[in-house]
Amino acid sequence: MSYSEGHPVRPVGGRLVLDFVNTADWTSTDHVAHEKLKSPDDLDVWLRTLEIKAHCAGTFDQLKLLRSDLRSMLLETKVSGTLNAVRELEFGAKEGAPPVLEGLLAASAISILADPRERGRLKMCPGDNCGWLFIDETKNSRRTWCSMESCGNRAKAARHYQRNRKAADPR
Ligand SMILES: [Zn+2]
Repeated sequence: MSYSEGHPVRPVGGRLVLDFVNTADWTSTDHVAHEKLKSPDDLDVWLRTLEIKAHCAGTFDQLKLLRSDLRSMLLETKVSGTLNAVRELEFGAKEGAPPVLEGLLAASAISILADPRERGRLKMCPGDNCGWLFIDETKNSRRTWCSMESCGNRAKAARHYQRNRKAADPR
């Protein structure tokens, strides 16, 4: 199986803003490893998949910059300053117009950052070049992976490989 395109987009984050930042795979240094939003058409597909009717206030490139910013904000440890930064993102919808995507994303980010319980359950998948964010809603906070189908299975396969190697080369 080839992972050159990265993980297929799956809404596994549990919150809108998390699924949005998961439209790329990320390196451990927070750079985009695989881009899933290559064009505005990809964005349309994503919106349809999540059944969201919204339009963008800014350009496609600005939206992708916002995605990096939102991800940094979500991973930021100093909450109060971050929260204010998100609040200052101004994307008000005009009356009667469909909601603005950037505004929905900012509101979703605030709902996580402003709630210690949500923040406590926010996790990043440790998979190689994944970096997807999700809310762990399992009872004992046992969720590790973005999804078992991608990173979970790869880790299992790697463990299996390591076990077999260890038998030959005990360390
Ligand atoms: Zn993952």
